[in-house]
Amino acid sequence: MSGLFLFRDNGKRVGSEKQLAQMRANMVEYQLRRRGIKDERVLKAFLKVPRHKFVRSQDIWHAYEDYPLSIGYGQTISQPYMVAIMTELLELKGEERVLEIGTGSGYQAAILAELAKEVFSIERIPELAHKAEKILQELGYTNFKVIVGDGSKGLPEYAPYDAIIVTAAAPRPPQSLLEQLKDKGRLVIPVGSRKLQDLLRITRFGNEFKMENFGPCLFVPLIGEAGWKSESFEEAEGQ
Ligand code: SAH
Repeated sequence: MSGLFLFRDNGKRVGSEKQLAQMRANMVEYQLRRRGIKDERVLKAFLKVPRHKFVRSQDIWHAYEDYPLSIGYGQTISQPYMVAIMTELLELKGEERVLEIGTGSGYQAAILAELAKEVFSIERIPELAHKAEKILQELGYTNFKVIVGDGSKGLPEYAPYDAIIVTAAAPRPPQSLLEQLKDKGRLVIPVGSRKLQDLLRITRFGNEFKMENFGPCLFVPLIGEAGWKSESFEEAEGQ
């Protein structure tokens, strides 16, 4: 009897993984490629990384839909399209040292680990950092390091970086992040109010910084010394 159940259970699981892989392929085609994501390396990374491993168990069947999902602690895993745009803007070729602020679920970190040489990712909520680290390890990534701390100050120990990505909203681009960019390094960051931000890419040329705006977006707040002071929405805007 138990053998039969085991067989059925296994059969179901293999079937589910196949279905999820199909959903992932559809996500890449319809939500990413047809909406303008062009970098083939980026598309390939999205095809490979199992996003359903980074969401809560009750959300597995929503993992490849076109919206953000809660990951607990008031935080979210971003919409796949937004993760893809931000990743594409980093222009990774495979040799870079990358810093991510806001590990969250670890999904963006996995995508970065596929595309760059080394990934450093900081998260302020220890439970999320540890969970993300465990999933990334289980998936076999070895070129990453998750650190618990306030990423609004960057991570000077391993600076400078070819690319820095901030996956939480900042009132302004933190000076320390600009300083930790290599020459020609790129910082991708949502900047604005608590309720609406612009997605910015800031590229360093010596001591000059070129800023490009890629339009409106909405992220959870960057909480820390060079971010917002608290999670409360009542906090004064533009501080
Ligand atoms: N990149 C994540 C998205 C996470 S949402 C993913 O792929 O799932 C943003 C995350 O930033 C949250 O987990 C939040 O706790 C974290 N965060 C906010 N302020 C931070 C700070 N100052 N330093 C590090 N992490 C921060």
